[in-house]
Amino acid sequence: ARQRYIDRNPGSKKLHEEALENLPGGNTRSILHADPFPICLQRGFGNRLVDVDGHEYLDFVGDMTAGVYGHSHPVIQEALISTMREKGLNLGGTSAEENQFASIIRHRIPSIQKLRFCNSGTEANLYALSIARHFTGLSKVIVFEGAYHGGVLTFAHGVAANNVDKQDWILAKYNDVKKVKKLLAENKGRVAAVLVEGMQGAGGCIPGSAEFLHAIQDSAKENGIIFILDEVMTFRLAPGGVQSKILHPQLGIALNPDLTTLGKIIAGGMTIGAFGGRADLLSVYDPRISMVQHSGTFNNNSLAMVIGCKALSIIYTPEICIELNKLGDMFRERLQLLAKEKKMKVTGVGSVCNIHFVRTIAHEICGIEDITVEPGSSETVLKDLLCFHALESGFWISRRGMLSLVIGTTKEETDGFVEMIQRFLSEHQEFVGS
Ligand code: PMP
Repeated sequence: ARQRYIDRNPGSKKLHEEALENLPGGNTRSILHADPFPICLQRGFGNRLVDVDGHEYLDFVGDMTAGVYGHSHPVIQEALISTMREKGLNLGGTSAEENQFASIIRHRIPSIQKLRFCNSGTEANLYALSIARHFTGLSKVIVFEGAYHGGVLTFAHGVAANNVDKQDWILAKYNDVKKVKKLLAENKGRVAAVLVEGMQGAGGCIPGSAEFLHAIQDSAKENGIIFILDEVMTFRLAPGGVQSKILHPQLGIALNPDLTTLGKIIAGGMTIGAFGGRADLLSVYDPRISMVQHSGTFNNNSLAMVIGCKALSIIYTPEICIELNKLGDMFRERLQLLAKEKKMKVTGVGSVCNIHFVRTIAHEICGIEDITVEPGSSETVLKDLLCFHALESGFWISRRGMLSLVIGTTKEETDGFVEMIQRFLSEHQEFVGS
């Protein structure tokens, strides 16, 4: 299968070899690395992608959840052109649209009393942490193993993996209710914040249990620790994010975090981040009363502000959000049915899910430690083989098995995907169990 992949994709191979001269590893986004080389894409339209060798794919990755709008949504196209023509890109002043966009977000997420924009989810988390640190005068933060809060805020395999000062972080186990309560109580007066995802996304689409997330919220409150909910990925899962009441039963929670961070889908595919929450906390960045700066040349750039308003009010409306997540639930349930009695598991919520290969049929997934596999193990090989198989069958899939639905994907297309997985499982029965 690997050799067929190489033979089928000479254009991608050549471009990868050329890119190795300029970019370490041949790309500028570690997650896109794949062995022997990643497929190089040429263009996208709707929920379809075309690579440089002319293969067409149905997009089941949706840019790792950020690409919910697909690749050429007419409303976004029109907004892009009219903003360029009638407004201008970056005027260097405040604009009506930044307030309008802020208002739309605030009304979708009631725990957000005030918010500010930045350029990525990573930045949003860094700013939220900065608020918590300024407000409390403390620097340590509790985070969870397997968490991904951005390129420089990656926490995997028991260590703060990337760039961050290890002394600043206390790593806890995701979904461990008892331990987290104890940890927060023990650290009263010692930590500024607890930062958590409602579903660990990059960590394998593992939902936090309602009990776990409530325990964090309650213990944080009792112990004067600021509760930051990272909704950069999960905002797409319900009209008001996973913290809202209108929710998938699996996550039937209504949270009220002190701070929320956002990014990815909120600006229709434009570069964006946002952080918001309690007004008293956000006043750390109110220049009338505070010297703490939150600046950024592109924070209120015209494209993100204008298209953000359109994206959330015209395209990814609460109704469409609910519909897409329903389709996702059906899709995941069908995949889970296929996985029954096999060494395959499917995790996720609504329109986002992840296929895993595991050691035993009875294996349960609660946190990153349950899906960590050795390089070269049969689980890893199966993941690679699935990827080769899916691509050859015309389905765009990520090497890590993460899937997220794009607006415009039909029920029939999800059926086609399920059938493709079924074929894969029957071809590899001896390895996946039956
Ligand atoms: N937090 C979470 C939960 C994410 O999934 C991501 C992106 N995958 C980020 C933060 C970082 O966002 P960005 O890539 O926009 O910096």
